[in-house]
Amino acid sequence: MKLCRYDADRLGVVQGDQVIDVSDLRDEIAAAPWTGPGDVVIARLPQLLARIKSEVPNRRDVALSGVKLLSPVKSPSKLPAAPTNYRAHIAEMQKVSANSPVKRSQDIGTSGMFLKATSSMVGPSEGIQLRFLDRRNDHEVELAIIIGRTCNAVAQADALDYVAGYCIGLDITLRGPEDRSFRKSIDSYSVLGPWMVTADEIPDPDSLQLKIAVNGEIKQNANTRDMVYSVRRLIEFSSAFYTLHPGDVIFTGTPEGVSPIRPGDLLSAEVERIGAMDVRVR
Ligand code: MN
Repeated sequence: MKLCRYDADRLGVVQGDQVIDVSDLRDEIAAAPWTGPGDVVIARLPQLLARIKSEVPNRRDVALSGVKLLSPVKSPSKLPAAPTNYRAHIAEMQKVSANSPVKRSQDIGTSGMFLKATSSMVGPSEGIQLRFLDRRNDHEVELAIIIGRTCNAVAQADALDYVAGYCIGLDITLRGPEDRSFRKSIDSYSVLGPWMVTADEIPDPDSLQLKIAVNGEIKQNANTRDMVYSVRRLIEFSSAFYTLHPGDVIFTGTPEGVSPIRPGDLLSAEVERIGAMDVRVR
């Protein structure tokens, strides 16, 4: 099932080019007291999906093209992210940093993961508001994992049991000497969308084609099978350090082909089995 957040925080089921409003079911499910941490809707997703399956056939829909798409998750407790998780991208970044005094570890196992601020999160319709236009800002298209249940010290073999679903993530990045978490946490630099696809529709997240075009020109086009750390390994690795909560979104890293973006650009991102989204840069 594809679930989108849209307009003024409505929840919808995406079917083809239509959206079926299920906000009232979401509100019902979320009404019972919630102490968190994490996102109450994602935490109660199994009950919500059961309600939706019985109700949706009797509901009216609206055109998907007419709604404003928000991040599919409203309240993640954190946005963990993998640096340099595709070999060809590592080589590419070595070239970029060859003339830079900033030296970074190239190995995710050594450097670990980083966190993007939840305040940087937006949906595709909100667009990206660039800052520091005198410096290089890059697009990074990534598969994003939405955690469904609280978990800690998860073994790889069990990792997918804790996944609620997937969406597309754009890890927009200001290049420069500051810490990654600072440069990648600028407001609107974490785009999630266009909707969440529940995990049952993606049995193998480690074989998904992903790509992004800037103004119609393909810049990144790769497959998640080329990730250094797989989806399962990233859940094991991150949860070895901190508890993951429902609604936490893991950015899995970007393949080769990152390039600068500027105000006025149109980013078109697509991940197999999830869908496609257009995001405007301002
Ligand atoms: Mn990234």
